[in-house]
Amino acid sequence: MTLIVQKYGGTSVGSAERIKNVARRVARAHQNGHDVVVVVSAMSGETNRLVALAQEIQDYPDPREMDAVLATGEQVTIGLLAMALKSIGVAARSYTGWQVAIQTDNAHTKARIHHIDDAAIRADLAAHRVVVIAGFQGVDNEGNITTLGRGGSDTSAVALAAALKADECQIYTDVDGVYTTDPRVVPEARRLNTISFEEMLELASLGSKVLQIRSVEFAGKYKVRLRVLSSLEEGGNGTLITFEEDKHMMEEAAVSGIAFDKNQARINVRGVPDKPGIAFQILGAVAEANIEVDMIIQNVGAEGTTDFSFTVPRSEYQSTLDILHKAQKNIGAREICGDDTVCKVSIVGMGMRSHVGIASTMFRTLAEEGINIQMISTSEIKVSVLIDEKYLELATRVLHRVFELDKVPQH
Ligand code: ADP
Ligand code: ASP
Ligand code: MG
Repeated sequence: MTLIVQKYGGTSVGSAERIKNVARRVARAHQNGHDVVVVVSAMSGETNRLVALAQEIQDYPDPREMDAVLATGEQVTIGLLAMALKSIGVAARSYTGWQVAIQTDNAHTKARIHHIDDAAIRADLAAHRVVVIAGFQGVDNEGNITTLGRGGSDTSAVALAAALKADECQIYTDVDGVYTTDPRVVPEARRLNTISFEEMLELASLGSKVLQIRSVEFAGKYKVRLRVLSSLEEGGNGTLITFEEDKHMMEEAAVSGIAFDKNQARINVRGVPDKPGIAFQILGAVAEANIEVDMIIQNVGAEGTTDFSFTVPRSEYQSTLDILHKAQKNIGAREICGDDTVCKVSIVGMGMRSHVGIASTMFRTLAEEGINIQMISTSEIKVSVLIDEKYLELATRVLHRVFELDKVPQH
């Protein structure tokens, strides 16, 4: 007997018809003798609707109450899916995150899972019931409802698979696997049969939303066998995330994938005194406000001064500028400005460790298209550039072509 965790995203449960379709798929796995735990998202568009509704009441919704609102989306789908299963003769039971319980810290709207109580789930599985669990939500140790950040149902599924020591965690979505880049932007994008854990982690952290980054982290930490598949098409093996031990299965291209992230804004702090402690003075103020800084560049400026640029999430653009304007006198900056119409495009590949010239090919290709690079950051297996957001699609397409991502790599 194998235990499978299946997760269905928003589009996959986007209508009553689709929920019935999911029920049929779950029923098949159950009838084939598997123990099945299903994690579901809210119906597509629902979480956005709830966010907008809350913002009509409060510009910056109270985080505790925001979670009370957001968690309702998934509560609807667990009930509907359990009904759909029962109506085709499959014993099933739905659970919210707090009923399970999925214990988290108290960081409302971006909570982290600490512990999962598996007793109720195990009892249902022993009674041959399918267990349907609400993704994206949990409960802190004072009983407050928490949510795990946008896209968090992926993380609920992988965390449950880890806690239950499931044989496989299957993420069913509206594409049939992980592609070389978002197939909505580059139609020639190619589905990968496998992708290494390290590459998937980079792609997720660089903006590819097919898997939430924390779900990939969990899979790595607990060695969960993780696969991305289509809920809308039949058959197909999707994409398997591979670990060191599956090395023989891996493709070794120089570049395996391209990710992009529009959630970026650039901040410039110009003409600050070039002296020890200045980076801390500027970034310390931003960090104190819990704003995550991503790319950073410091250049030598005129006459003993230095220019400082960095990026923050776009939603934090205005608040970052406000913080720095307040601190401008203290820092001694000549000018504080920025741009929130930028994006980050990144190429990712394990093969970069052994191939040289990848970054220069990227820079040349962008230059040939007249795309100006504003910032660069690199790691062992990725190169990211910050560019004007109007070039996002063009940059992704030309890079996809120059690195021949539409072709199966030859060994
Ligand atoms: P779900 O609601 O099922 O969680 P998401 O919308 O969160 O689905 O994620 C699936 C989407 O991720 C796809 O529709 C696709 O547009 C996007 N995506 C971005 N990058 C990739 C990629 N490299 N491979 C596949 N899909 C990608
Ligand atoms: N419903 C949540 C969201 O839209 C969680 C998820 O779908 O994974 O972000
Ligand atoms: Mg998702």
